Amino acid sequence: SQSSPLLIPLGCIHRVMESTLTARDRVGVQDFVLLENYTSEAAFIENLRRRFGEKLIYTYIGSVLVSVNPYKDLEIYSKAHMERYRGVSFYEISPHIYAVSDNTYRAMRTERRDQCILISGESGAGKTEASKKILQYYATTCPVTDHMSTIRDRLLQSNPVLEAFGNAKTLRNDNSSRFGKYMDVQFDFRGAPIGGHILNYLLEKSRVVHQNHGERNFHIFYQLLEGGEQDQLSKLGLERNAQKYHYLVKVCVCVCVCVCVCVCVCVCVCVCVVILTVMSCTSQGCCPRVSSINDKNDWKTVRKALIVIGFHEEEVEDLLNIIASVLHLGNTQFGEGEDGETQITTEPQLTYLSKMISPLSFEQAVAARDALAKAVYGRAFTWLVAKINQSLAFKDEVYNSSKGSSSVIGLLDIYGFEVFQHNSFEQFCINYCNEKLQQLFIKLTLKSEQEEYEAEGITWEPVKYFDNKIICDLVEEKHKGFISILDEECLRPGEPSDISFLEKLEETLGGHAHFVTHKLANGKTRKAVGREEFRLIHYAGEVNYTVNGELANQSVNSRTAGSSDNQILSQCFHREEVTTQKRPETAATQFKNSLAKLIEILMSKEPSYVRCIKPNDAKQSGRFDEALVRHQVKYLGLMENLRVRRAGFAYRRRYEAFLQRYKSLCPGTWPNWQGRLADGVAALVQHLGYKPEEYKLGKTKIFIRFPKTLFTTEDALEA
Ligand code: ATP
Ligand code: MG
Repeated sequence: SQSSPLLIPLGCIHRVMESTLTARDRVGVQDFVLLENYTSEAAFIENLRRRFGEKLIYTYIGSVLVSVNPYKDLEIYSKAHMERYRGVSFYEISPHIYAVSDNTYRAMRTERRDQCILISGESGAGKTEASKKILQYYATTCPVTDHMSTIRDRLLQSNPVLEAFGNAKTLRNDNSSRFGKYMDVQFDFRGAPIGGHILNYLLEKSRVVHQNHGERNFHIFYQLLEGGEQDQLSKLGLERNAQKYHYLVKVCVCVCVCVCVCVCVCVCVCVCVVILTVMSCTSQGCCPRVSSINDKNDWKTVRKALIVIGFHEEEVEDLLNIIASVLHLGNTQFGEGEDGETQITTEPQLTYLSKMISPLSFEQAVAARDALAKAVYGRAFTWLVAKINQSLAFKDEVYNSSKGSSSVIGLLDIYGFEVFQHNSFEQFCINYCNEKLQQLFIKLTLKSEQEEYEAEGITWEPVKYFDNKIICDLVEEKHKGFISILDEECLRPGEPSDISFLEKLEETLGGHAHFVTHKLANGKTRKAVGREEFRLIHYAGEVNYTVNGELANQSVNSRTAGSSDNQILSQCFHREEVTTQKRPETAATQFKNSLAKLIEILMSKEPSYVRCIKPNDAKQSGRFDEALVRHQVKYLGLMENLRVRRAGFAYRRRYEAFLQRYKSLCPGTWPNWQGRLADGVAALVQHLGYKPEEYKLGKTKIFIRFPKTLFTTEDALEA
């Protein structure tokens, strides 16, 4: 079939290996729609577990690919593997990220319709790896000329650069993307890559100034310090030692007072050493070196990638100046001057800073050192993305092909639903984004199901599902949604505070079925929600958010950097923005608007989905933690997905494919059948004893309601 992934006959039983009864017991079904007990979460997880045990990390729900991170190289991504998937339909071959890549590509080419692949999952689940594998597949299998190889290389090289500036080691992933990314790859009428464009979302700027224990700042800082040439570091006033920088590692000299009541002095000394080691790095991440990361080599890769992408030497210099200035800013300390005024007491930092960011007044430095560092880094990142976009931009004159005939495949690598012990504004945005994507997903899946039924002349039976529009409205509705209330409160004269904001929320949203605070209707207190918290009941579950710092998070200080000599900085902080008194948008509104644009982009394309699952928290291969997986199955909405997909028929297949596979079961009629395909299938199923309620015949496809019917037929084939 050449139809797009969502419309392909999906229920796929894979060849002999997975079709026999015993093999099914061992490796499970390769498409969840074939699960007999499809509403059972336990059966779903058991199927995933079996397959994972057999190193089968991919399984479909119809055309949705579910992927479980193997945490080891399975050697299934070679060029030979890519070749195996080229031009082959979903149901003819075992599930793979290359099958999704290839089907999407073919759908784009044959239907001339823009496509997108939405990859979701929690941190460490394998989203970025999946998106890189897709890109690699296109880079390897698509036709390219010399000109196009430049664009292809730039597309590939944009990854190490963006990862250096936007990824960091976290407790959950040594290479965690701290931003959301949507990348368009543009193809010409021959199917060759001719351009690209990246949109970035919600860079975690707070990481610039603070990291939790066991985590790091963005990779680029360590790469520069480890890999930068000595004279370059000297020019930037940097030392090759991450321990020197407050934003990377703050080494506090802790005086450990050991109340020695123990009899054995030896034990006491040991305890002191342990306490000192733990306490010497409390306020920052404290792990400049990570065994899985080679900063020095990565630096070389990034430097080369910057050249491939087309950065000029001065631009690289400016970029490094910014990185250095952030480190210097972090080391700036403040003290009291003779008249009691605040002064910067760290001279060298002042010299470097004033060279890079001028004029920097004391008050601004005192009040906004960290805010400034975050803003500078955030905007430099935005500039970097814009610069990469310039280099990836489709240039008509170079390729001598008409823009109109090009098509696009978009790749969305975006954070999945997040629930921590403490959830802040950041988690709120991430989860709101997931609500929107879930809404889009259900809408489009139902729509495509409905369209297929209509096209085949089969009666559509409405599916019951939870419509999460109510939660999206709660967040974004004009005047009475969460974001409107936040905007109002930020701009309200007087002294708006987190608590007054929470009160406003209560006033407006109290009583909403999906919004809860600590106050109960009977005047009592609900213990499960703190006084500085509110709870949202998301489609995936309940999450408490704290409003601590919510209002402060909403603005950025851009005054200082706008007048810098550094080209990147002065571009990032536009002078108009600095001088005009235009009402600034809050971070929440900015996010809402960019999300709305993203949804619009996705709506205009035919979607495919990759749902990534992390099998354990220890980053270990071969370990399948059922509780952790169950949690993700819930947050990814996979059971709902399967329910919608299975609502009518478990399996559908084009007549020719169905006959091709099963005609041998009806030896009297086949292979000499001369009539219409539909009549042939009708004769076949009659011979096989299918009951009328078990199947329907459409215009080009047979629809089978229960997996059991199909399995019986499959087993007959094996007998
Ligand atoms: P985050 O949201 O934190 O960015 P992520 O979902 O993008 O997480 P990845 O960075 O893609 O997660 O994957 C985490 C790690 O898991 C990778 O660095 C790699 O070691 C391993 N991994 C992921 N997918 C695969 C795979 N298909 N094969 C082998 N290892 C993998
Ligand atoms: Mg990632």
